[in-house]
Amino acid sequence: MSKLSIKDLDLKGKRVFIRVDFNVPLAPGGQEITSDKRIRASLPTIQYALEQGAGLVLASHLGRPKGKPNPEMSLKPVAVKLAELLGKPVAFAPDCIGPAVEAMLPAPGEILLLENLRYHAEEEANDAAFSEKLAKLCDVYVNDAFGTAHRAHASTVGMIRFVKQAAAGLLMDQELKYLTMATKNPARPCVAILGGAKVSDKIEVIENLAKVVDKVLIGGAMAYTFLKSQGEPVGKSLVEDDKLDLAKKLLAEYPGKIVLPVDHVVSAEFKAGADNQTVTQVPDGLMALDIGAQTVASYSAIIAGAKTIIWNGPMGVFEMPPFDKGTVALAKAVAESGAVSVVGGGDSEKAIKVAGVTSRITHVSTGGGASLEFLSGMELPGVAALTDK
Ligand code: AMP
Repeated sequence: MSKLSIKDLDLKGKRVFIRVDFNVPLAPGGQEITSDKRIRASLPTIQYALEQGAGLVLASHLGRPKGKPNPEMSLKPVAVKLAELLGKPVAFAPDCIGPAVEAMLPAPGEILLLENLRYHAEEEANDAAFSEKLAKLCDVYVNDAFGTAHRAHASTVGMIRFVKQAAAGLLMDQELKYLTMATKNPARPCVAILGGAKVSDKIEVIENLAKVVDKVLIGGAMAYTFLKSQGEPVGKSLVEDDKLDLAKKLLAEYPGKIVLPVDHVVSAEFKAGADNQTVTQVPDGLMALDIGAQTVASYSAIIAGAKTIIWNGPMGVFEMPPFDKGTVALAKAVAESGAVSVVGGGDSEKAIKVAGVTSRITHVSTGGGASLEFLSGMELPGVAALTDK
């Protein structure tokens, strides 16, 4: 079911509560923002709402203050940064509920950023009374925090019961558009590239995507659980022995669809710059740290023919060159394919950055956990709670 978008709302003269994801990384001490990417990601929604004549109440969590005020996790530096990015004042409230906040509520064209929602334990507990107090601050609710949409908290789910309309912001809309397109109705052939450390983290993703896509290319450490399940030697590679049966079952269920590496870059040491060789069978005592050149070539050929690509997780230990080669090569293949490409957040995002192809990816998700849950076929509570169109 499609959800109301901020573009469907009449915002003129309204007070709009926008749940943003301002969970930015801070330098020790909590005063300096080390990446403003998440703030920038919400600017289109903020600017749109201002242009429509709304007054804005912005709210976010930052870090894990565990229900207590903590000056090292204050959103105050974010208010300063946001004002700088927008070129207009941003008032900062000392709390997120209560009379002091109510006294500061914005007129049309003004912006008020609330203090960290998680200073109150009731936020994560999705407490009804706390939710109602948040809802009291606004006429209309907008959720632009895709990265927190997999959590049922007061600001993402609870308060929606107490507002008349709840819509997706522009960033949330964008995330849902591409993730839905790729997983529900993809242009074919549709190829999923799944890598990373553990099968156990991605079982639901593999199971769900295998139903939808035409090929699942497996890389990263999880490939070795699959290979071991087929009786292949894996040396000292990272393997989840308790997932061997599951890996075997998946391969039997989708023969030819789930594709495994045919060669491997192996080393005796888990270290950047370690001596390595490329082999088709992992020798005893060595561990596989990247996919080999033959695998890169065959995966790249499949990628070149794709119309839709979904990627989550690196093909090797991309943080430690030279074991980044497979991931970088596939990132370039994805960028050159001309396919609609959707990359999950977290390590996958870092990997395409290492490859220098971020701007050539159709959509890079801003939510690691949320995009994984979406790719698993789960309904995100923060999306489900929004008003249906
Ligand atoms: P994930 O968070 O599940 O996407 O996993 C990402 C992590 O998997 C990265 O830190 C990679 O270094 C790691 N990884 C990828 N391939 C391997 C491998 N062959 N052996 C050990 N770790 C790996």
